[in-house]
Amino acid sequence: MTKINLRAVDRFDRRHNNSDQESINAMLKTIGVESVDQLIDETIPSAIRSQQELDLPEALSEFDFIRDFKAIAGKNKVFKSYIGLGYNDTITPNVILRNIFENPGWYTAYTPYQAEIAQGRLEALINFQTVITDLTGMEIANASLLDEGTAAAEAMGVFYSLRKGKKKKTANKFFIDSNVFPQTIDVIKTRALPIGVELIIDDIANVDVTDETLFGILVQYPNNDGAVNSPEALIASAHENDVKVAVAADLLSLTLLKAPGAMNADVVCGSSQRFGVPMGYGGPHAGYFATREDYKRQIPGRIIGVSMDRRGKKGYRMALQTREQHIKREKATSNICTAQVLLAVMAGMYAVYHGPKGLTDIASKINGSAKAVANGIEQLGFKQENEVYFDSIKVAVDSEEQKAAIKAAAEAKSINFRYFETNHVGISIGESVSVEDIEEILSVFAEVSGKSFDLEAAVAELEVSFPEGVARDTEFLTHEVFNKYQMEHEMLRYIKRLENKDLSLVHSMISLGSCTMKLNATAEMIPVTWPEIGKIHPYAPVEQAQGYAEIFTNLEAWLSEITGFAGTSLQPNSGAQGEFAGLMAIRAYHENNGDFNRNVAIIPTSAHGTNPASAALAGMKIVLVSCDEKGNIDVEDLRNKAELHKDNLSCLMVTYPSTHGVYEESIKEITQIIHDNGGQVYMDGANMNAQVGLTSPGNIGADVCHLNLHKTFCIPHGGGGPGVGPIGVAAHLVPFLPGNPLIAEAGGEKAISSISAAPWGSASILPISYAYIAMMGPDGLKEATRTAILNANYIKARLEKVLPILYTNENGRCAHEMIVDFRQFKSAGIEVEDVAKRLIDYGFHAPTVSFPVAGTLMIEPTESESLEELDRFCEALISIRQEIQDVIDGRVDAQDNVLKNAPHTAEEALGDWDHAYTREDAVYPNDAVRSNKFWPSVSRVDNAYGDRNLMCSCIPTEAYADEAEIEA
Ligand SMILES: *Cc1c(COP(=O)(O)O)cnc(C)c1O
Repeated sequence: MTKINLRAVDRFDRRHNNSDQESINAMLKTIGVESVDQLIDETIPSAIRSQQELDLPEALSEFDFIRDFKAIAGKNKVFKSYIGLGYNDTITPNVILRNIFENPGWYTAYTPYQAEIAQGRLEALINFQTVITDLTGMEIANASLLDEGTAAAEAMGVFYSLRKGKKKKTANKFFIDSNVFPQTIDVIKTRALPIGVELIIDDIANVDVTDETLFGILVQYPNNDGAVNSPEALIASAHENDVKVAVAADLLSLTLLKAPGAMNADVVCGSSQRFGVPMGYGGPHAGYFATREDYKRQIPGRIIGVSMDRRGKKGYRMALQTREQHIKREKATSNICTAQVLLAVMAGMYAVYHGPKGLTDIASKINGSAKAVANGIEQLGFKQENEVYFDSIKVAVDSEEQKAAIKAAAEAKSINFRYFETNHVGISIGESVSVEDIEEILSVFAEVSGKSFDLEAAVAELEVSFPEGVARDTEFLTHEVFNKYQMEHEMLRYIKRLENKDLSLVHSMISLGSCTMKLNATAEMIPVTWPEIGKIHPYAPVEQAQGYAEIFTNLEAWLSEITGFAGTSLQPNSGAQGEFAGLMAIRAYHENNGDFNRNVAIIPTSAHGTNPASAALAGMKIVLVSCDEKGNIDVEDLRNKAELHKDNLSCLMVTYPSTHGVYEESIKEITQIIHDNGGQVYMDGANMNAQVGLTSPGNIGADVCHLNLHKTFCIPHGGGGPGVGPIGVAAHLVPFLPGNPLIAEAGGEKAISSISAAPWGSASILPISYAYIAMMGPDGLKEATRTAILNANYIKARLEKVLPILYTNENGRCAHEMIVDFRQFKSAGIEVEDVAKRLIDYGFHAPTVSFPVAGTLMIEPTESESLEELDRFCEALISIRQEIQDVIDGRVDAQDNVLKNAPHTAEEALGDWDHAYTREDAVYPNDAVRSNKFWPSVSRVDNAYGDRNLMCSCIPTEAYADEAEIEA
């Protein structure tokens, strides 16, 4: 008789992990070990192994999780929020909601480093950049930043690095109009402090542009009050004095208002949230950043540009990569890596769907609705103070009591207004507003004033009319793409067409070392688009967000347990922001101890580029330590440098297991040396997938660590964002966790100023990681780590027969990833890039190329790939190795071969064929491909051509026809 189990019949962990016992047995045999236990013992040093099991709730099934989580989310009260502050209710077009936001074909893609299999999202990002440049009136825009606050902080950073002449030495002041959003000011404070920029926060009327020490100014348009004031005269006088001006602007308002670019602004930045992206209690949304072409080398983040492929066809790719921190390291001016690609894609598509006329109509409706509310409120005897406004009005009230009465009456009707500290109430209108909503808003004021209003009169004769000087008189979004997809069928097919050009996790494994591309399970994604999660304003009263509070409390506790730390902050919205947050917490801790000169950060040369870039942003002096030939940190070098700098040592930044894919035996000694010399240990937790349940940063002796929830904890990469980079900290750093100027509940007792614009960062995607932990349970999580190590060592065992594997431990084991060396093929003319591109012909995305060692691939399979998929991948690489041998042995032409010409498109294979090898060798190199072919939409894209002929927005197709001819 079989016993019946009434619980957990369908276990989630068995679907997430590679759990087939027969496969595991076969893999163990190939690796040459008896059991997974033995493999783990041979892989992870016993000194750092956790002695206890994770203390986490038992695993839930998918069904049980969704049921329980619905109840938690239900504790969030979905009010109508007219709070503004840069966040407004918006309507996500359903065709975008279902086919992008809820579609793994879009959300599981990686950052578009392999341009040939990323043309869909690259085109979508070019659309986004065009929306930004057209509406702001600027020359060049990037493909998103993390939020409005960080975009404004980047503007300050760019201006600071652009100082020239006399100003280069003396100018250290940045003026912020006090009428900029308070959370933006707070984020800038954090960035200004460590680099010695002095902020002047005052009424813009008081700015002295002739001040020799002033280098930049930030104003908001429309401003924090909602008033529209032209910055044109200010910009002109600032420029006369070599002072640059950034304008934080509401993107939608720019359909009606004069573009800041037309007023000569140097940078225009802000958020694209109201272009169809839910408020989500703070994020994620795409921040934007636009500037002059002259400053293109200083622009933070990624820029998508147009180039050509090998056959002269238009091809998009990421432009000007040499600006990025991966290359510039501590000389980088920004640490941004993961950005907000998925949200930028959505915002760009919102503009494609509505077109210039639709966007203008939406903006006009919003403006008209705000006017109607203002009319009604004036009928009721209140004074509305904004002379010129777009969507936000500011109502004067008599007293604190009256303000409180309005708040009570509004909340009784499930309405949130903004309550200024002065006797004012703000009302900011979003896209979804209806005439009934206007009536309801007015009824609140009617109730408090005891008077009545005439709705009909309030909504009669509304007109868009802005005074000369702020009225828009230029066209925008004239390009074809914004004018041909207004029918849903066309839109649906356009979205699908782009999706089909991109290779994502729905096609095959993406074994990117360090980036941990694991399963993003559907059940984890379901809550993200629930209204209880999406429709909450980040500055709604916290009592209305009790569901969120419960999610944060639990998730913080779980992550603290997993990291072995005392506290966690969920605020940073990327790994790099986590690094910056952690370093700033360390800085505050030292200063709190009276150590004002601890500013040296020791960083191994193998560190990810964001480490030195973040340390530089945190005002630290960087001291590099080398690695030995086995890839381990040179402990003697580290000891010498720690001792040399012991009086001003701030911290060590270390990745564990190392970026070389091994668990350094000496890690405890290393953390001890740093502590003995007065420093703190910052652990880069991008490799947490090799630790969960088996060891932890706390265990190893770290003081602070960021996690990439978009790596280890299942938030999809979204094509290059969103991400979440929470930091875990030891008890002595808990008081310094980042706060928020408007929400007292966020942050520690001695909180540092904000890292992100919203108190809990990208709150609406935290349910994904929550779901993962809840459904895996402590055993499933530990098994995931063990399986990730098993899968990696299996690949290693198969590949090491034909390719050298760099850096293994003394038992010959790798961690959860390994580096495969291709440098020895250079003499035959084969570069690692050729291998990366050839993998596309086999249906695979390349592993990480040339990090942390140039000329190598770093492979990380993760726990959620089956033996079948691992084998398919190994066989592709083994076959490519043979193709390389054919070149080395002279059996094929050194230039005209399958590697150099990879990837091959269908168009090429079906056209005139003039290669020394067959069409079949090109596109069907093995049987697995034959039955499941992914066709790249362009041939290899020419990066250098694109950088020489920089083009970063939609341009007419004819331009390429000419260039193609020149090429031919
Ligand atoms: C991914 C990664 C980072 C940066 O994280 P983002 O979320 O992209 O900012 C930092 N360090 C390492 C080792 C990484 O792999």
